[in-house]
Amino acid sequence: MRAEILAVGTELLLGQIVNTNAQYLSRGLAELGIDVYYQTVVGDNKERLIQAIEIARGRADLLVFTGGLGPTLDDLTRDALAEYLGLSVELHEPTMEKIVSMFAGRGGAFVESNRRQALLVKGATPLRNDTGLAVGNALRVGETCYLLLPGPPREMKPMFDNDGSAWLKEQLGPALTLHSVMLKFAGIGESGLEDLLIDLIREQRDPTIAPYAKEGEVAIRVSTKASDAEEASRKLEGALTEIRGRTSAYLYAEEDVPIEAMIVRKLTEQQRTLTLAESCTGGMVSELITTIPGSAVVFLGGIVTYSNGMKLKQLGVPEALLEGPDAPGAISPETAAAMAEGMRRVADSDFAVSITGNAGPAAAEDKPVGLVYIGLAERGRETRVEKLQLSGDREGIRVRAAKRALYMLWL
Ligand code: ATP
Ligand code: MG
Repeated sequence: MRAEILAVGTELLLGQIVNTNAQYLSRGLAELGIDVYYQTVVGDNKERLIQAIEIARGRADLLVFTGGLGPTLDDLTRDALAEYLGLSVELHEPTMEKIVSMFAGRGGAFVESNRRQALLVKGATPLRNDTGLAVGNALRVGETCYLLLPGPPREMKPMFDNDGSAWLKEQLGPALTLHSVMLKFAGIGESGLEDLLIDLIREQRDPTIAPYAKEGEVAIRVSTKASDAEEASRKLEGALTEIRGRTSAYLYAEEDVPIEAMIVRKLTEQQRTLTLAESCTGGMVSELITTIPGSAVVFLGGIVTYSNGMKLKQLGVPEALLEGPDAPGAISPETAAAMAEGMRRVADSDFAVSITGNAGPAAAEDKPVGLVYIGLAERGRETRVEKLQLSGDREGIRVRAAKRALYMLWL
């Protein structure tokens, strides 16, 4: 429900009083889960009041008025709304009796204009006023709700907190809670994913589609408010189907699980094993894999080969690749492939993944910061190497390289 607050009173426009009612109502509406989109102030003038109602009608489905319910001729809110809606006003008998008995108790003569405070727009629900005379009005016409409250804060506040809030809750129906589905992607960047979904993201209303990027991870949260899970899945289904269709090549999970958990799951199912040979990530991929319970079934182990010497001794990377004026160097596709193949040979695993690169901050081997090669050796298949040019600081590059190594293993 989108609300607009209309504070009525020329004194507000003249700066003679501060519009504290709008603040009170904004906060109260927010607590009810109602979004306030606009606050308007309009003087005691019927023509401009009707104009303000017309504008508010176009951009909100709840109009909350304060002020202008009193007995005098400048109190026009009720009349303006009735005229705008083409409805008559009718007397609310209990309020009229209360006014009459109050005058009798005071011993004064009844002043006819006080009848005005007992008027309701035809069809409106009366809102009790325990601290004053004017009855509040709550009215629903089609999809639009109108709430008419008095101006004096000592009358407005209790009326809003009691009958007003209760009526609003009835209009809102059963309490809605946020339901969302997290979609996780591998092998595509944030902007690439946004490109695929740009029209959906632009036109979204309900459900909402929010891209969500954490170091090295790309995800989308699709959310809606609903009273239960069944209603939520009905509301989410259309958007999810559309997104699935467009992103199926990259979508790896429809829950908030990290890629390493999915890999452990997949390798466990396939009964295949994994080893790792890491250089610039210093064991980060091993760390990610071993945080997943059950990883022992599939992960045989990893070696951090940071120096050329270790790459040579532990993994058997040929010296000709690492040293010498014409050697491709440690940061090269050839070395990445040799590391992965060497690791797989040494451990006899089904898969071995290698990572070698420059995480910065300075160039190494004349290779730019962020240049990373990932090798994937697989039993019975040709070794593949992926080249990455990552941006960010040292930590960012390392994290992204580690995640990309996992994505490569997944895809
Ligand atoms: P009354 O029966 O007193 O005439 P009303 O519902 O007609 O009540 P107004 O005449 O608009 O309301 O305002 C009455 C008084 O209430 C103002 O003089 C002011 O003190 C206070 N008031 C009105 N509107 C606001 C507001 N938006 N914020 C704070 N105080 C307000
Ligand atoms: Mg007044």
